[in-house]
Amino acid sequence: MRLLVVEDEARFAHALRRGLVADGFNVEVASDGAAGLELARYGDFDAVVLDVMLPRLSGYDVVRTLRQEENWVPVLMLSAKDGEHDQADGLDVGADDYLTKPFSYVVLLARLRALLRRAPDARPTVLAAGDVRLDPATRSVTVGEQPVTLTPREFGLLEYLLRRPGRVITKIEILDHVWDAAAEVNPNAVEVYVGYLRRKLGRHLVETVRGVGYRVEP
Ligand code: CA
Repeated sequence: MRLLVVEDEARFAHALRRGLVADGFNVEVASDGAAGLELARYGDFDAVVLDVMLPRLSGYDVVRTLRQEENWVPVLMLSAKDGEHDQADGLDVGADDYLTKPFSYVVLLARLRALLRRAPDARPTVLAAGDVRLDPATRSVTVGEQPVTLTPREFGLLEYLLRRPGRVITKIEILDHVWDAAAEVNPNAVEVYVGYLRRKLGRHLVETVRGVGYRVEP
């Protein structure tokens, strides 16, 4: 899943990014509101983590503008303020959820996962194809009754494919959403990881659409 983090405190943004990447997310960071708005408009993100107090354009302005443009990307706002007034403001202008700093990373992760579940093409709580089931909340995967251990990258790839059943997904799409934006990745890495998933979960789970990409049957 592709996340945009808009946060001007560099150390905090860096720590957040490191945590989310380790949990299998693909993360881009913008350090002011105007850059964040620009990326959110064109970056095809699955969710945005948005600080309120930002240089150039506040988090309120960013989310208000996105909603005016009918961009419904899920937004989780962060703020150092703790008055109920601020929280209501954030939700009024169109944020989906709100966290007050300081917060625990575990809580942020849980809220993000809840947001991603509510996202337009991401409704089911447990994702399934054939006898493979993936539970994003517990980060567990089973084949039949048998639990299977996946690396964060394998898990991210499987989750991305299962959220788009029946659709042909190109390697580039997969690279953009599952791999870290900053990393230099050879497109062959997608083939390698699809191979890992087939070995762990069954040969027929992921179908190769020759010359185009991959598809998981619903
Ligand atoms: Ca800030």
